[in-house]
Amino acid sequence: MTSAVPSTPRALQVLLVDDNPIQLSLLRHLFQRHGHQTIEARNGAEALIVLATEFPDVVVSDCVMPLLDGYQFCRLLKDDRATRHLPVLLLTAQGTGLARFWAKTCGADRFLVKGRDLDHVVEAAAALAEQSSRPRSTHAVPKLAQENFGVDAIQRRLAMALEQRLVETALRDSIARLYTADHDTPRLIQGFIEILQELVLPGALMVAYLGEDGAWCHGVHGSSTSAEDRQTLEKALAEQGPIQTQTGCHWHPAADDDERRRSLRDPVLRVFTATTPGYPAVGALAFITERRASEDFERLFEIAAEELGRLLSLEDSRLRLYHQAIRDPLTGLYNRKHILDMLGMELDQCGRFGQDLSIMLVDLDHFKAVNDRFGHAVGDQVLSVMAQRMVFGLRKVDQLGRIGGEEFLAYCPQTDLEGARALAERLREQVSVETIPGLPSNDRVTLSIGLATWEGPEDTPERLVSRADKALYEAKAQGRNRVVS
Ligand code: GH3
Ligand code: MG
Ligand code: MG
Repeated sequence: MTSAVPSTPRALQVLLVDDNPIQLSLLRHLFQRHGHQTIEARNGAEALIVLATEFPDVVVSDCVMPLLDGYQFCRLLKDDRATRHLPVLLLTAQGTGLARFWAKTCGADRFLVKGRDLDHVVEAAAALAEQSSRPRSTHAVPKLAQENFGVDAIQRRLAMALEQRLVETALRDSIARLYTADHDTPRLIQGFIEILQELVLPGALMVAYLGEDGAWCHGVHGSSTSAEDRQTLEKALAEQGPIQTQTGCHWHPAADDDERRRSLRDPVLRVFTATTPGYPAVGALAFITERRASEDFERLFEIAAEELGRLLSLEDSRLRLYHQAIRDPLTGLYNRKHILDMLGMELDQCGRFGQDLSIMLVDLDHFKAVNDRFGHAVGDQVLSVMAQRMVFGLRKVDQLGRIGGEEFLAYCPQTDLEGARALAERLREQVSVETIPGLPSNDRVTLSIGLATWEGPEDTPERLVSRADKALYEAKAQGRNRVVS
């Protein structure tokens, strides 16, 4: 038989839970009219008994019911590994405020308002059953239904479920609190490890992450794990995780437990990828611990990995923004504001420790002519090449920034005027030795450099730069390609 409907949805078995007989029969008719089978229960407790023998595809439950209400019933189902994947649709009389909040926090998959949304209930339930990752053949018997089952058991189980939720929330909260206004990445990771090590030790825990300058790995281990254990862990993380760490892990020892154990009795090794939806994986956590701890805290480890993903992606965004804020995009050097800020801080140090400091103001000679002859794009390329050469020409302790179009500022800590002069002369010679890609091979770009040195606590960055500027002007006036102090 052919019909106008393109495909017939499969017949579902639907568990309907409602204490109101009229509402229950209304739902029954709605579902049966669409060709689905229904099983019924009058409250959450009855529904749990039903689930001991029946295996529905989806649950449609009222919220306010005697004995065990819809939220509690849902929380118990979602807390239980056996029934976690059974989709739950909650129906409530009101669609606002706490009803919606509880529906969300008890883990319900969908929430509909009785009067308003009842037309969609069949469609919504079918969609949930369709999305559900639970293979149809697995029979999910709730823990509670396997036990000696009564009001006491329900209450005990509920209390446990609530406590579990509380622990999960506390874990999320304590990890999220690590992200403060003045944190840095290593401290963030250290804080995360400190929170998790309580669950993992005896054993070892490591966190790998992709920082600004490559992959990092930090770990903590008790005396219960050997160096080989840790190597195995590092290997597992490199193979299964998203982060390859070449440098190896920085391990820190920690007190295992009161009882000092030589080794773990029944160890398991786990690797979790730390991800945030919509963000590339930027971290992972791996641990080796007793099998029991690993099973008991399974959900907590999942949450920790999720929160770590969130922390690391936030951190990644923060570092990117910070990088953008302090660097000049063309050359990658520090921008004007940042190099002057850094100079200010460095002068504070000079004041405190009475150390020397000199600065160089560097200007490219006849740069306008480069633009005029070869165009602005080639000019940009030359600027960027010259910037790289200057970085290599200076020492590691010296800092360089681009403070104007073709003007640069470098400061040299613990360097007097004579030292700075030698450094500047070397720099001036070095940068103009080699040809510049994009320019004719006999063309060179030369530098004029003005020097100034710190003259004591009264000196400010502005005065220092102003003296260097005068010297630079003098270098230009004397014919360029020279150093003047
Ligand atoms: P002098 O030896 O006296 O320093 O001569 P000059 O031509 O280098 O100096 P002037 O200050 O007259 O010109 C600087 C030129 O640098 C003007 C401008 O076109 C160029 N310039 C500044 N910023 C950029 C940039 O970001 N890209 C390019 N391509 N050129 C720039
Ligand atoms: Mg110039
Ligand atoms: Mg200039």
